[in-house]
Amino acid sequence: MTNDTTAPPPPASPMTGPHSAQPDVVPLIDIGINLGHDSYDVDRDAVIARAKAVGVVQMIVTGATTAGSRHAIELARSRPGELFATAGVHPHHATELTPDALSELAELTRQAEVVAVGECGLDYCRDFSPRAAQQAAFHRQLELAAHLRKPVFLHQRDAHEDFLAILREHRKNLSAGVAHCFTGSGPELAAYLELGLAIGITGWICDERRGAHLLPLMRAIPADRLLLETDGPYLLPRDLRPKPPSRRNEPVYLPHIARIVADARGEQLEALALSSTAAARNLFGLPSASAAPPQAPGRGHSD
Ligand SMILES: [Zn+2]
Repeated sequence: MTNDTTAPPPPASPMTGPHSAQPDVVPLIDIGINLGHDSYDVDRDAVIARAKAVGVVQMIVTGATTAGSRHAIELARSRPGELFATAGVHPHHATELTPDALSELAELTRQAEVVAVGECGLDYCRDFSPRAAQQAAFHRQLELAAHLRKPVFLHQRDAHEDFLAILREHRKNLSAGVAHCFTGSGPELAAYLELGLAIGITGWICDERRGAHLLPLMRAIPADRLLLETDGPYLLPRDLRPKPPSRRNEPVYLPHIARIVADARGEQLEALALSSTAAARNLFGLPSASAAPPQAPGRGHSD
């Protein structure tokens, strides 16, 4: 995550051709989009429409604070079957997870729209919260996920060893999880795969300065555990041409990320789209887009 986005103008055009209907476009799912971010306030509906036009049929809206998680749930309720939410407290905000906030978060994570607990984890790159607070908040959220039998949406930066140690403690109680925005090394990837985690790949892989090491790792990820995400409005892919007018990332660029990943794996874009969409639906328990309920989902407990 960075904070270097600016407000729109909207992007010039999606990377996969005209906006018009593409009947044989293969559906994609953006498993990590910070759609509640205020940079989307002016044109959120248009952002969603542009994404749908290029085949991004479902998105999981990331919750990174209790307030942000509440907003993510509201967005998911406004578009049942298309938007889903995570609820959690990002390690940057770990000091905010007071006992009261934890009770509030527990209530939020029980909502039917919430398909994962997080994002949660450790971030020693910025150290915005003290490491002891980050570790405590991580433990509490893993316990929450285990209790609810919901997957965890995991964030890790420069904290691999501690992150792994804490995850190993809880692993037997957890149903599933995804290492979101994976940017690590081969041995880190191997450790996550051994723990049974799915791997979320963002446009970081499009960055020739700091993401090129990810390209040869793509073949090591089993197809049924490889998920795609933009992490918008952060991490605009650096190799988009023509250069978008705004640095704001948005889910319309997910097919571009998918193409880079498919090339790195030596497979067709359609094959990757099919497998990653199936993997996302399986991990998060999403309905297939056509089977999405037309009515608002229940607002009570999910289990
Ligand atoms: Zn993150």
